Amino acid sequence: MRLINLFKSLKLISQVQIVRCSSEYVPKALRSLKAKSTRNTVQYYVDSFRVRAVGGSGGDGCISFLSAWCKDHAGPDGGDGGNGGHVIFQATYSCKSLNHCKSVTQAKHGERGFNKECNGKNAQHVVVPVPLGTIIRDSTARVVGDLSSEGMMFVAARGGAGGRGNKFFLTDTEQAPSVAELGAVGETNVYTLEVRSMAHIGLIGFPNAGKSTLLRALTRARPTVAPYPFTTLRPHIGMVQFDDYEQVAIADLPGLIPGSHKNYGLGIQFLQHAERCLGLIFLLDGTSSPLQQYSTLSHELRAYSPSLAERRALIVLNKMDTVEARQALEELKGDLDVIAISAKTGENLPVLVKALRDIYDAGER
Ligand code: GDP
Ligand code: MG
Repeated sequence: MRLINLFKSLKLISQVQIVRCSSEYVPKALRSLKAKSTRNTVQYYVDSFRVRAVGGSGGDGCISFLSAWCKDHAGPDGGDGGNGGHVIFQATYSCKSLNHCKSVTQAKHGERGFNKECNGKNAQHVVVPVPLGTIIRDSTARVVGDLSSEGMMFVAARGGAGGRGNKFFLTDTEQAPSVAELGAVGETNVYTLEVRSMAHIGLIGFPNAGKSTLLRALTRARPTVAPYPFTTLRPHIGMVQFDDYEQVAIADLPGLIPGSHKNYGLGIQFLQHAERCLGLIFLLDGTSSPLQQYSTLSHELRAYSPSLAERRALIVLNKMDTVEARQALEELKGDLDVIAISAKTGENLPVLVKALRDIYDAGER
C-alpha cells in the first residue's frame, strides 16, 4: 500500500513538472519568425546577356577482357561511354527576364564505359528557360536564333558523343582488340541573348509624359507612377481586352530623352523591345512643347533604327485635363494629326483604343 502511495506521489510530482515545463519554457512558435526586411533592395532587370555554353564531353570507351572460370580468354567486354549533355535555351511564358542566366553554362559529362559490356550513362541536357521573344546572336553578332513561341528550343552547345569500348572493335581477324575510343569534347560557343518583348504596340515618350499612367488606365498592368523622371526602369507590358476576345499587348518603354542614342539617361537600350511591335504610340506631354518632343523622339528613333521609324505610329497628346494642353492642341492642329486624351481622367481613351485595334488588325493580315 505504501509503495503504491509512493508511486502515486512520484507520478504526481512528475506530472506537475511536465505541466510547468510546457507552460514556461516551450516556445509559442517552433521556429522564430524573422521580421521581413524593410530595406529597399535594388532589383535589376537583365534583358541582354552574354553566355558561354559548354556542352558536356562524352565518356571514354573501356578496354577490358573477360576471364571466366571456365574460359580464361573469353574475349573483349569493354562498354561504350555515354554521350555528354547539350546546353539548350527554351522559350517559356513563365520567365520574364534573363536575371537567372549564368555567364558560363556547363552541361554534365557522359559516364565512361565499364567492363562486362556495361555502357556509360548519357548525361542530362541542361535546359535554360528564357523569355518568349529572345533573340540569340553568335560571337559575330549575327542572329542565329529567334525563340518566338512557347517551348521553342535552341541547341546552344552540343555534348560530345561517347567513345566506343573495345567490344565494338571485335572482328573475325582481331579477336583481342586493345583499342577503345576517347569521348568527344563538347562544343563551346559564346552567344549574346537579347529579350525583345512580344508586344503589339510600343509606348514611346519622354519621362513624365504619362506612359505608365496610360498603361494603367488601359490595362491591368501596374507600373509605378510618380511625378519625377525615370520612375519606370524596365519595360512593362499590359493587355487590352476586346469583346471579341482579341488581346492587344502594349509595352511601356521607358527612358527616351534627348541624346538617348548617345547613351544619355537610360540610353536606347529598351528600344530593342520596340522592334517586334506592329505600331508605336508617341505619347506627348501636353504641358511642355509637344511639337519639340515629337521631333526629338522621332530623331532618337531614327538614330536607333531607320526601319523602326517607318513603323505605323499614333501621335497622342496627353494631359488634356490641363489648360496648357488644350492651348497646345489648338497650336498643333495644323501640323500634326493627334489624338488628344487624358490618361488621368480617361477622356477620349475609347478613340485611342479603336486606333490601336486598327493597327493590330492591319498588322495581323
Ligand atoms: P511616365 O514617366 O511617362 O511613365 O509618366 P507617369 O505615368 O509616371 O506620370 C508622370 C506624372 O504625370 C504623374 O504625376 C501623373 O500623375 C501625371 N499624369 C499622367 N497623365 C496625366 C494626365 O492625363 N493629366 C494630368 N494632369 N496628369 C497626368
Ligand atoms: Mg513610367
